[in-house]
Amino acid sequence: MAHKIGFIGLGMMGLPMVKNLIKAGHSLIVYDVDRAAMDSLSDSEALKASSPAELSAQSEITITMLPSTPHVKEVATGPQGILEGIKAGSIYIDMSTILPTYTRELATIFKSAECKMLDAPVSRGQPAAIKGTLSIMVGGEKEIFDQCLDVFKAMGTDIYYCGQSGNGAVVKLVNNLMIGIIAPAISEALVMGIKGGVKLETILEVIKGSSSNSWMLENFFPLTVFNGSFKPGFKLDLMKKDLGLVHEFALQLPVPLFLGALSQQLFEIAHMEGIGDLDFTSISQIYENLAGVKPRFS
Ligand code: NAD
Repeated sequence: MAHKIGFIGLGMMGLPMVKNLIKAGHSLIVYDVDRAAMDSLSDSEALKASSPAELSAQSEITITMLPSTPHVKEVATGPQGILEGIKAGSIYIDMSTILPTYTRELATIFKSAECKMLDAPVSRGQPAAIKGTLSIMVGGEKEIFDQCLDVFKAMGTDIYYCGQSGNGAVVKLVNNLMIGIIAPAISEALVMGIKGGVKLETILEVIKGSSSNSWMLENFFPLTVFNGSFKPGFKLDLMKKDLGLVHEFALQLPVPLFLGALSQQLFEIAHMEGIGDLDFTSISQIYENLAGVKPRFS
């Protein structure tokens, strides 16, 4: 069933997600603070709103794909925000990676405006956003999840219902805590192997058939580090932001965070080194620069 969808945040992820929603037959109205991002869609593809409130007033479903918690807070509840325009009975889906406790607060705020909210962060990065093969983890009422399934299916292939409001956001932080630890672990181990005198291709062939293989080693590193290209799909500064969210959430619960804290420091250092706008896998450069070798395809 085609829906009238408002989409806010046309960045690395949002723009290809919008294109896939249009391809699936939904009608789109979009908004971004960056005019150039708005201009990347033609007038025939999508209507352009002048504020989140104007957008939500015209949408059955409003989606946000914004950098982090403060951006979502401003766009959802600030002046000229979604809440000012949204009609009772409409649905708001936040697909950004934000603090789960804030997601739950926001769901309560939207409930008092007689609207339903889902948290539906995504994984697998920009290549999957382009192909429409995202993994999407959703929290909120099951009935609303079911109503939105065709919308999620336009953007992803693996759609998971995780339970009550905020659970999608929690699972997303679990995922990103793991990748925040795994990316430096892969870098550290490969730099050791290369400096130890073995070719990258040889190491990869063995690891792919051994116990330490991982999705990230097979899918992300070959696109960036191994080719010596650090063009961002998922910016290092966004990974740093996510580890900050993990840190805040872990303190709220509370739970221990040994490796997560270490990884957060590594990404802070990489940011200070001036590589925050590169892909997050460029964390490898910290090891490469210290050891003087690079894990690259020959
Ligand atoms: P991005 O920085 O490329 O895009 C964010 C967009 O939001 C930009 O176009 C920006 O102009 C817009 N924006 C910022 N503030 C705004 C405001 N107040 N009103 C309207 N628009 C505003 O980020 P991205 O890489 O697309 O990531 C978006 C979210 O998805 C983040 O929470 C990120 O952690 C998450 N995520 C990203 C990836 C990835 O690979 N890039 C993967 C999974 C999840």
